[in-house]
Amino acid sequence: MIAEEVALAKILEAVAPLATERVEVRNARDRFAAAQVLATIALPVFDNSSMDGFAVRAEDCRPGARLRLVGEQPAGLNRALTMGEGEAIRIFTGAPIPTGADAVIMQEDVSAEAGTIITNAKISAGENIRRRGCDLAQGQQIAAIGDRVTPQLASVLASQGLADIAVGRTPRVAVLSTGDEVIAAGRPLQPGQIYESNGVMLNMLGSASGACVTDLGTVCDESSALSEKFLVGLQHDALVISGGVSVGARDLVKEELRNLGVELALWRVAIKPGKPFLFGQRGSAFVFGLPGNPVSSFVTFLCFVRPALLKMAGAKNLLPEVRRVILRDAMENHGDRPHYFRGKISGGEFAPFGRQESHALFSLSQSNALVRLAPGERLPAGRSIDALAI
Ligand code: AMP
Ligand code: MG
Repeated sequence: MIAEEVALAKILEAVAPLATERVEVRNARDRFAAAQVLATIALPVFDNSSMDGFAVRAEDCRPGARLRLVGEQPAGLNRALTMGEGEAIRIFTGAPIPTGADAVIMQEDVSAEAGTIITNAKISAGENIRRRGCDLAQGQQIAAIGDRVTPQLASVLASQGLADIAVGRTPRVAVLSTGDEVIAAGRPLQPGQIYESNGVMLNMLGSASGACVTDLGTVCDESSALSEKFLVGLQHDALVISGGVSVGARDLVKEELRNLGVELALWRVAIKPGKPFLFGQRGSAFVFGLPGNPVSSFVTFLCFVRPALLKMAGAKNLLPEVRRVILRDAMENHGDRPHYFRGKISGGEFAPFGRQESHALFSLSQSNALVRLAPGERLPAGRSIDALAI
């Protein structure tokens, strides 16, 4: 049996970022930057007003002071206005600051009369002026290689006038569910059958990890049927298989993969749930064999498949988001493998939830976090711990 960390390291060593391509910024959500992006345009682009009001010299603005109105500067064009002592210029939010002004007084603090204004407040130099480059300087890094394109990052890219961005190619992933007993929705269950649920979950986990997923449906535990589906799956960047990787007489996945020339890099990892996890490679196609028990499939996807898919897509951060929380109830791992317990984070506290066995799908469905306990580890209530958000 291979240690979890060793297994992950082997997988991440085997997979590499796919080719890069340029996509429109507006379509790049959740893609990963394939090149560093530096600012070519400072933000703000020019000194401008943060208020509707009057551009003034701060020192002129005593309560009751009368200033001469000498012009108007709207947003959207630069009239290159100039003003001097005792003067003011009508100005609007986002408009360039006239030469000679060092502050903007809000219109609420001014009484306007024909051709003049009376200032009713004191202001200081720089007030209500957004200086060029104070938010983002020219040459400053906007995105590093591997950064996820979020809506807010896309917005800064757009501020630079960029229409497209270089990102990693989206991994193409096939998902296949094996098992004589599993059937897809739409048919009544016969005695001994169960509805397929892993495939549905893995399809979603795949797309949530940035992959383009092809669903290969379900297949029975027969050599020829399996290899037929595997051949289709091996045409993708990754093939994710659920079930059939354990030691039962009908667990034929490993053997059939070998027959097709897949090199198995690892099988059986010290992790609970998920021990029979398998990883292999044929050419540029990677194969992940996940144990059929639903929670085993979920946990091994999160621990091994997701980081691999993210690396292929060009991501920098491969591990799940960790939340620092307080443990509500004491927890203990009596086993000899690291154990991922499912549970709920609420109000900054984590509490294990429901049954913890690998088949117990409902308790997983109600959980929003996993907590990993090392073999023999005991955590008292009240301890501050890291939980993986799911
Ligand atoms: P296996 O890993 O094939 O030995 O399957 C382990 C357990 O997971 C068995 O109880 C299977 O019925 C169940 N199982 C396997 N595949 C699926 C699936 N696609 N959806 C739900 N349960 C499954
Ligand atoms: Mg099976």
